[in-house]
Amino acid sequence: GPKSYSFMLRTKNPCGKVSNKLYLVMDDLADEFGIGTLRLTTRQTFQLHGVLKKDLKTVMSSIIKSMGSTLGACGDLNRNVLAPAAPLYRKDYLFAQKTAEDIAALLTPQSGFYYDMWVDGEKVMSAEPPEVVKARNDNSHGTNFPDSPEPIYGTQFLPRKFKIAVTVPTDNSVDLFTNDIGVGGGMGRTHRMESTFPRLAEPLGYVPKEDILYAVKAIVVTQRENGRRDDRKYSRMKYLISSWGIEKFRTVVEQYYGRKFEPCRELPEWEFKSYLGWHEQGDGGLFCGLHVDSGRVKGVMKTTLREIIEKYNLNVRITPNQNIILCDVRQAWKRPITTALAQGGLLQPRFVDPLNVTAMACPALPLCPLAITEAERGIPDLLKRVGLKYNESVVIRVTGCPNGCARPYMAELGLVGDGPNSYQIWLGGTPGQTSLARVFKDKVKIQDLEKVLEPLFYHWKRKRLSKESFGDFTNRMGNEKLVELVDKWEGI
Ligand code: SF4
Repeated sequence: GPKSYSFMLRTKNPCGKVSNKLYLVMDDLADEFGIGTLRLTTRQTFQLHGVLKKDLKTVMSSIIKSMGSTLGACGDLNRNVLAPAAPLYRKDYLFAQKTAEDIAALLTPQSGFYYDMWVDGEKVMSAEPPEVVKARNDNSHGTNFPDSPEPIYGTQFLPRKFKIAVTVPTDNSVDLFTNDIGVGGGMGRTHRMESTFPRLAEPLGYVPKEDILYAVKAIVVTQRENGRRDDRKYSRMKYLISSWGIEKFRTVVEQYYGRKFEPCRELPEWEFKSYLGWHEQGDGGLFCGLHVDSGRVKGVMKTTLREIIEKYNLNVRITPNQNIILCDVRQAWKRPITTALAQGGLLQPRFVDPLNVTAMACPALPLCPLAITEAERGIPDLLKRVGLKYNESVVIRVTGCPNGCARPYMAELGLVGDGPNSYQIWLGGTPGQTSLARVFKDKVKIQDLEKVLEPLFYHWKRKRLSKESFGDFTNRMGNEKLVELVDKWEGI
């Protein structure tokens, strides 16, 4: 079918930073070569669906020339590095964002071949910070392939994709615990996190901030050398850690790092931050966070955003929740921009509905070849069914297969496609995205979802402790008790 001849293309934007120029180019490319929509992803990047093979070169070179990249957006290497998207002019935020950019640069493939292929050798790359080049080339602990154009990756790259997030204490807008490496920004804390594997995160250690790049490199090299390459199902780093145990893992990383990690410091509680609405940047300017349903920018929303971004020459940021932030807005522009947003329908109540605002779905059918069920197309209906009665925040995430691209395993209510029109239901994530959910029920048919969800929500409303979140409630009750409530349910 036509599917096999068209490509999905993903950009790379550390911290979700998108320049004015790149936004406008992506907006054009979506119309000209894609399916007329832009998709914002949970890794703070753009996805363009439906690019034909014959157009790939034109599209890629347009992106690269606008200082965007697609290099390292796919494949067995480090993926886009996350950091809080808020353009706050605060020391800790700026440091986290700079660290994310440095890590991204450190782990970018080095072969000029890629650029030669897409832009015919034109010089388009900006210079890298010297400390990044130094960390990449450092071979004092035998981490490198000294004769390879890829000193860190060698010829084999990594056993599997690799994910890193950087943040500042308290700000968990990046879903820190779902990454292979989470770096707690200002406090320079590096820990190892589990993702889809139901096992809680384990702290690896504390490093002074000037050593972060070296610590990250040591972890990546440990995975490169020891991660399983015989079975892709078990090749993510979490399986290496679960087979070794964190102590052995730490010891091996320390050999490549060349020193011992310091014990972890205590951190304040994590909080999910959405950055929706208007905020001060701290430099006199304003920013405005806008909710985008399932990250899909289309129709009137697309034209409205384009007009505003073009007219005021705004830079934007993509958040790890698939939303968009308009940056660098002058005080005097706030009113006309608000009016334009309202006219474009971007300030409708559903964009501030607490249930909708925290919800996420992956693209799934018909765009993802791995999808078993609906996600993006099905979630509006699902939220209506749940939201009509319960207008309160519950973090709901839906994916079309167990790959879990919208991070359902950290949701308070996660739905993971597990058969035609059926979902596996996960419970137990928390609003701050700090605990892993657990499987509650398998193979629940789409038309039977209410039978499971209604009793859960009903009893939460009735039996919750003061302000207890849905996730905390389901954890306190435990699966056994909840199964009983669901089985006995006869409707309200
Ligand atoms: Fe595709 Fe599965 Fe990822 Fe959804 S979770 S985008 S269906 S791979």
